[in-house]
Amino acid sequence: MFVDTEGSRRACVADLVNNPTQGDEAPPSALVIDDSPDVHRLLSARLRSEHLSIISATSGEEGLRLAADRSPAIVLLDLEMAGMDGFEVLRRLKDGAATSDVPVIILSGHSTMQDKVTAFDLGAVDYVVKPFEPTELRVRVRSALRLARLVKMLAQRAQIDGLTGLWNRTYFDSRLKECVSGNDRHGRALSIALIDADHFKSVNDTFGHPAGDVVLQGIAEALRKQCRTTDTACRYGGEEFAVLMPETKPADALILCERVRESIERVVWSKHPERAVTVSIGLAGAAAKCPLAGDRWVEAADKALYKAKSDGRNRTVAVDLVKLAPRIAMAG
Ligand code: GH3
Ligand code: MG
Ligand code: MG
Ligand code: MG
Repeated sequence: MFVDTEGSRRACVADLVNNPTQGDEAPPSALVIDDSPDVHRLLSARLRSEHLSIISATSGEEGLRLAADRSPAIVLLDLEMAGMDGFEVLRRLKDGAATSDVPVIILSGHSTMQDKVTAFDLGAVDYVVKPFEPTELRVRVRSALRLARLVKMLAQRAQIDGLTGLWNRTYFDSRLKECVSGNDRHGRALSIALIDADHFKSVNDTFGHPAGDVVLQGIAEALRKQCRTTDTACRYGGEEFAVLMPETKPADALILCERVRESIERVVWSKHPERAVTVSIGLAGAAAKCPLAGDRWVEAADKALYKAKSDGRNRTVAVDLVKLAPRIAMAG
């Protein structure tokens, strides 16, 4: 049993804003693409104080490969190179889904206005003329990295629900697509739960809208506590939540849903300790490949939720989509 607290909510919101994606802990790297070994030596020495590990490529082709494989935090790109020139490398970096957001600073012996215009138009964040002043290059790298971090943070925040700190509907929709395609292509197990607060309107009506908000935050907290790191818990809208559980068979998802449901039922709410809040859960899952589009998965979970409501609320109703899919497909 736990009592909702503001402090724990704030901590969790911060956790999510800071860490909605995994794998950011590795030290950042700078990819230097330049056909001159001297430039690599020089940059390795000059950027050491920036705590960046340096990845070196001496051709455009090698640079593109390393940019895709190693996810550098920044690219320093020469313009004049044998084979593929810097403009072409820049164009391809900006066209690649995995590399389009990486800031690119052009390092060039040329400083014609046309080269600068082309570089910025193609998406470079900065343009430094060789031979460069080491201190100036360092601050320009620092500034480009700071800007990239801010842009990334804003993009992440746009996918986080302001009230609860959970992922929002936009993020749910994009993850749903990925998870459903994992099931469709590789037959990976998948379960999806829709969770709806019971008689929530009466919580608002009896204790006020702010008390209702605290309940929504408490439900989010319970989801954060019970879900595993591979699960994606979202605020689906209003007083509805959704959890995507990849690699999870419906029988295992049911255990998790019941844990969520029971933990919410046990919360003692500081604004109305005498009034417990319950949730109903609709669960749709498949242990194997199930040829249904994403909206059909959600539809099936929604139907199960509706049944949980009509059967008396405060319960989980689960459907096995491997068994149900042929019927759903036939119904069109
Ligand atoms: P049921 O058990 O059938 O789900 O009943 P319910 O009362 O939970 O469902 P209903 O759809 O009638 O009411 C949902 C309520 O949720 C109405 C709406 O005002 C409230 N709500 C939606 N978003 C928020 C929010 O952000 N904060 C608060 N406090 N209330 C919200
Ligand atoms: Mg060169
Ligand atoms: Mg609802
Ligand atoms: Mg409700």
